[in-house]
Amino acid sequence: MSQEAEKNKKTLIVIGGGITGLSTALTWALNHNIKKEPVLLIEKEPKTGGYVTSYEREGFIFDTCQMLPNISELVDYFGLELEFKAFKGYYMRIFLVNPETDEVKVIELPSGTEVFKNMLMKKYPQNAKQIRKFLDYSRAMYLELFKLKIEPTFIEILKLLFTCPKIIRNASKTFKEYFDQFGITEPEVKEIFDVFADFSALPPKYVSALVPISALNSLLDGAFRTKEPFIDFPKKLEERYLNLGGKLLLNTKVEKIIVENDQVRGVEIAGGKKIYADYVVTTIDPKVSMKKLVGLDVIRKLDKKYAQKIDDVKMSTSAFNINLGLSENVDLAGLGLDCGFNIITTGGNTYDRLFDAYEAGEIGFSDNLFHIAVICPSLTTGSKPNITIHMTPMALGEWKKMRKSDPEKYNEMKQKWADFFIDKVEKYLIPDLRKNVLVTDISTPATYARFSGSPTGSLFDMAPYTDNFGRTRLKMRTPIKGLFQPKFVHGVFGCLLGGMQVNDMIINRKIMNGNARFKA
Ligand SMILES: Cc1cc2nc3c(=O)[nH]c(=O)nc-3n(C[C@H](O)[C@H](O)[C@H](O)COP(=O)(O)OP(=O)(O)OC[C@H]3O[C@@H](n4cnc5c(N)ncnc54)[C@H](O)[C@@H]3O)c2cc1C
Repeated sequence: MSQEAEKNKKTLIVIGGGITGLSTALTWALNHNIKKEPVLLIEKEPKTGGYVTSYEREGFIFDTCQMLPNISELVDYFGLELEFKAFKGYYMRIFLVNPETDEVKVIELPSGTEVFKNMLMKKYPQNAKQIRKFLDYSRAMYLELFKLKIEPTFIEILKLLFTCPKIIRNASKTFKEYFDQFGITEPEVKEIFDVFADFSALPPKYVSALVPISALNSLLDGAFRTKEPFIDFPKKLEERYLNLGGKLLLNTKVEKIIVENDQVRGVEIAGGKKIYADYVVTTIDPKVSMKKLVGLDVIRKLDKKYAQKIDDVKMSTSAFNINLGLSENVDLAGLGLDCGFNIITTGGNTYDRLFDAYEAGEIGFSDNLFHIAVICPSLTTGSKPNITIHMTPMALGEWKKMRKSDPEKYNEMKQKWADFFIDKVEKYLIPDLRKNVLVTDISTPATYARFSGSPTGSLFDMAPYTDNFGRTRLKMRTPIKGLFQPKFVHGVFGCLLGGMQVNDMIINRKIMNGNARFKA
């Protein structure tokens, strides 16, 4: 290493300035004397935030991210000043559509575990006992998460048998298998709970049971949105990090992770410059990190199973997103849109069937089969009226190729699908929507792939199938000494936690005592 390189050497390099990278870098800055143990965050784009961003189109501010559980403990830990709005009354509505008759049934989901439970038991008395059992059991299982360790010792594993029996019993179950144990027969109740599986962008028949149970319980404790456009959140994380003396390189793409003698040494950035470090934490698509930046051969030499796992891991789906700037004539509040999410769905096994099509590389949406989320950011932020229409699952399929080789066709396809989804929203939720649209901005999987650097444009990183979740997930600690990948997150909360967990690993449990969840 040259003298110059030695002088510029960091203790930690973090690749990727999304929420996971910001959390990793900031947690480091909070726990080290940064002058002695410097940290560098490297981001390929001109701004941090990754998938959590806001952008302006003809005076309208659009957000990507939409809803959060209660993250106040983490926000306090990071020392951020952020204002959140909690959705009162209901935080979600499900519009259950019968496409044959066009009949629509609206189900409102309130926050608060007991309120929610009582509402369901009253509404579906024939399943009241089963609903209580399901919710009580699931709550207890969710709370066991706080006793889980990320890298448990042998003694801790033995202890888990007593402290986390429900998690252990259900660890290998899909949500469908888990749910079916409780004997709930009311199709509408099933519909409500299945929505939490679909939140993970995996259908109930595939998703690991603990994922929807965590989403359900954390949202019952409160559903929130930032009062400012969502980009405020990464901006505040970045500001805090820089104020603590952390360093940031924007517009800089990491091309290679340098490994020598089974130990990470640093990174090589576009243009060939090398920056050395004792630790590297990569927060970009794990397949890209491991296959492209490190090289699978390097990993295979050290740990065949880990290398195989990287190959086998399935990434989560991408999305199709439509942001609409609207005229003041639409009474968004009057239509009840001041809540976290509205789901318009044909119900039954809609999401399973959409996912089957997705897996076959097709788009399964049709007049008889749709599952559409509608969100209204402007009622929280106070910006010019807008809504977001968000769909999963949507595969990268031909989108990327089309955008490159035939932009006209790409735009045609984009518009065709946007029209399809806008029509559904107009029909079932916002009358006269179309004539009040002033600005349309459409994102496809190609947009997400380009923006995040994930070749599949995956929204939620690795998909939480039962064979890649909990104990079976691709480990954060890679076989290369000093190299970590705290990916496998599910949304912003998981990303924040991932950044803290990886620091906890590096500095021997000094932050979270090895726990999976942070408790102040
Ligand atoms: C449309 C949409 C809506 C969503 N809605 C919600 C929601 O309502 N609630 C929720 O909790 N979550 C939501 N999510 C998911 C959430 O935004 C993500 O889980 C989270 O932001 C991922 O953060 P990350 O840092 O792990 O990854 P990313 O955000 O993908 O960040 C990775 C960063 O690495 C950078 N990068 C990539 N390659 C390189 C390289 N070689 N060198 C340097 N930098 C590189 C990228 O530019 C990017 O900034 C949504 C996502 C999308 C796309």
